[in-house]
Amino acid sequence: MISTSIFPGRYVQGDQALNILPEEIARHGKSAFIIADKFVTDNSSGPFKEVLEQLNDCKVQLFGGECCDDEIDKLCDRFANDSTEVIIGIGGGKTLDTAKVVGYKQSCPVILIPTIASTDAPCSALSVIYNSDGSFNRYEVLPHNPDVVLVDTNVVSQAPVRFLVAGMGDAFATWFEAEDCRLKRGTNMTGRVGPLSAYALAKLCHEILLEYGVYAKRACESNIVTPALEHVVEANTLLSGLGFESGGLAAAHAIHNGLTTIAATHNYYHGEKVAIGLQAMMFLTDRPSKTIDLVFDFCQSIGLPICLEDIGMIDPTEDELIKVAKRACAEGETIHNEPYEVTHRKVMHCIKAADAEGRRRKRL
Ligand SMILES: [Zn+2]
Repeated sequence: MISTSIFPGRYVQGDQALNILPEEIARHGKSAFIIADKFVTDNSSGPFKEVLEQLNDCKVQLFGGECCDDEIDKLCDRFANDSTEVIIGIGGGKTLDTAKVVGYKQSCPVILIPTIASTDAPCSALSVIYNSDGSFNRYEVLPHNPDVVLVDTNVVSQAPVRFLVAGMGDAFATWFEAEDCRLKRGTNMTGRVGPLSAYALAKLCHEILLEYGVYAKRACESNIVTPALEHVVEANTLLSGLGFESGGLAAAHAIHNGLTTIAATHNYYHGEKVAIGLQAMMFLTDRPSKTIDLVFDFCQSIGLPICLEDIGMIDPTEDELIKVAKRACAEGETIHNEPYEVTHRKVMHCIKAADAEGRRRKRL
């Protein structure tokens, strides 16, 4: 059996890590084409001001707000008419996904600077493409991961804490899903099985969250950088990214995909819905009660959703739950990486069981 793992070229993280951006750019070229969120370009006195001023030969392009083909084509045209050599994305997930695709289409190095730690997407070789109205279009699997991912934990600590907590929801599912892939010999995002190193990194991600999650959240609430915050940002961004891409996904993300078919969940972040998917996954087979308790205790301790009502699904109908379960079990979905047979009826029951447990806990 041939295993395959994929990684970003370089991962840089730390308090005020933005200061070394010029050094990182210089390894790849003389000048950069920067695709940035509005708050970055508006940030006249914040952490970006100084570093953007230092980058004399760089062009800053305001990101249009949607990772769609029109935006990608527009940015590709502008880049092609420019003499810059490196593409940099600064901002949230859609900005970074756009920068990845533009970099691939223009065959040039890509440096990504996430300003929040809400998902594990920055390190991956995957972009989610939407239509210009914001509806889902397709996944774009890119031939390689970003060249550099640079995370300034000072910037992350200034962002609303809900982003960091959602990132922990996404990251907390990583080891459970990777472990089920390992048992099943299920495939990772490359379509081949993962190596032991990916499972070990997923396990480290799990341990970091349990050890430091609560204190990382408190640090972010106070907008300060502490070792706990540093560890959790690494778990959310790097370890979860390597764990999911090279370890593999299973039921939690498939149930997340099912939940996205319900409009009421659209105001909730990816990691918040993944947390609900993970809680449901705990009831899909005969997991020990201590594992189930561990998952709910952790989610509760950092304020992640623990029942359907927490992600906008108040009194869901049977039809809605069947719709979620059927989407989660669609052909080719990662739920089939679970080491046992999964049916939509089983998924519907496990979602109900997790919801009942979450509601029970909220009543206590
Ligand atoms: Zn995810």
